[in-house]
Amino acid sequence: MTDTAFSALPLPAAQIDNLRTLGYEQMTPIQQLSLPITLAGQDLIAQAKTGSGKTAAFGIGLMEALQPRLFAVQGLVLCPTRELATQVAAELRRLARYLDNIKILTLCGGMPIGPQIGSLEHGAHIVVGTPGRVRDHLRKGTLTLDRVRTLVLDEADRMLDMGFAEDIGAIIDTTPTSRQTLLFSATYPRDIEALSARYQRDPQRVTAPDQHRPVDIAQRAYLCDEPDKAATLIALLQQIEPDAAVIFCNTKARCDDYATALKAAGFQSGVLHGDMEQRERDQRITLFSNRSLRLLIATDVAARGLDIDAVDLVVNVDLPRDPAVYTHRIGRTGRAGRSGTALSLVGAKETQKLERISAAQTAPIEVIAQLPQPDPDYRPARAPMRTLAIAGGRKNKLRPGDIVGALTAGGRMQGDDIGAIAVGDFTAYVAVKRELSEVALVQLKSRTIKGKSFRVRKL
Ligand code: AMP
Repeated sequence: MTDTAFSALPLPAAQIDNLRTLGYEQMTPIQQLSLPITLAGQDLIAQAKTGSGKTAAFGIGLMEALQPRLFAVQGLVLCPTRELATQVAAELRRLARYLDNIKILTLCGGMPIGPQIGSLEHGAHIVVGTPGRVRDHLRKGTLTLDRVRTLVLDEADRMLDMGFAEDIGAIIDTTPTSRQTLLFSATYPRDIEALSARYQRDPQRVTAPDQHRPVDIAQRAYLCDEPDKAATLIALLQQIEPDAAVIFCNTKARCDDYATALKAAGFQSGVLHGDMEQRERDQRITLFSNRSLRLLIATDVAARGLDIDAVDLVVNVDLPRDPAVYTHRIGRTGRAGRSGTALSLVGAKETQKLERISAAQTAPIEVIAQLPQPDPDYRPARAPMRTLAIAGGRKNKLRPGDIVGALTAGGRMQGDDIGAIAVGDFTAYVAVKRELSEVALVQLKSRTIKGKSFRVRKL
């Protein structure tokens, strides 16, 4: 036993077993630093990014503080975006598997409020939500937080950036002062200090060593003006053949333009921008993360909270003005010990931005003037998976296991042919091997799941 093993912590054996089944054997650095503090009930201010294992760093302690028999909200996690809230809730559900009947509810904006009210009436132990919507529920009297023992502010800096300070304050004011307050933030601007000073008691401060070591990310800048950017992008994608690439543009109109250019070269891509409906955004992110889509073209706003470990390439079609945004963009690749590539297409008018960005980086950015040319005969490979959407979800008591069961019944499909399954309230998405998508469609359409037939379609 080493001191990085979860078994070194004062946790019940059932949780250690649960963590083992999740494949968590060793603590990540942020977990090693935070868990002794959170398990001791102390307040914490932690500097950690998404991908560092921060959800478990607060989630494991949160579960230990729960009284499962008490049907009241005892844990509240505030997140800046619905995407992040959804990911956090999914991770918390995994961490709660060793306890019986723990209800975890997400309350986010952009979703109808009626079903949320219905779910709240049934009681929940943990609420994960965005500040605006959580406050709406408090106003309506559909949520009470007077039994909260653990409050988590996740990506607190982004919540403040997004203008949630007032909502957060109003929400915290309805929780007991005896609560434990855990604040996670990637950066420490002054307003975070103020938030901590106002709502935390003697917080212990920890900083995770930066896991996005820039040396793991090869950075190159191609000097090319606007007329050459599309062809250069296509040539680079043909050369690198990424499994998953995020392509950043500064505006949504440019995202659309580049999606059109890529389509003309045979590349399938999905656009993600802030004006899209939440449902559509969720769907795109699901397709990208379950490997049904290799290329995602995004603006910075839309890519917030996008937490996908396996991105092997980031391309900046436009350079951001702020060097910190560049760092954040390229930090989406080279995660979890993998190597990554970050390429930028830099027009003559952007060279100053490049200089500023280079100056702020510890690792060098290789500048390349010789532009690669696309091969007109190249045919891009399709994504390895295809997604089926099932018109049923948690509200219909659908679970991932039911979907796996329906797909594998009859023996035409094996567990290995099935990829990620995401069950939402009313829709479930299942990724299957592309060549088996027709088989899977027929299989799901011709069978009942939990005694019901659901509409199913390929995305
Ligand atoms: P997070 O930073 O919370 O978004 O976590 C990033 C990813 O790491 C998630 O997919 C977790 O399931 C996974 N993870 C968290 N803790 C561990 C651990 N100790 N060992 C292995 N994987 C982990």
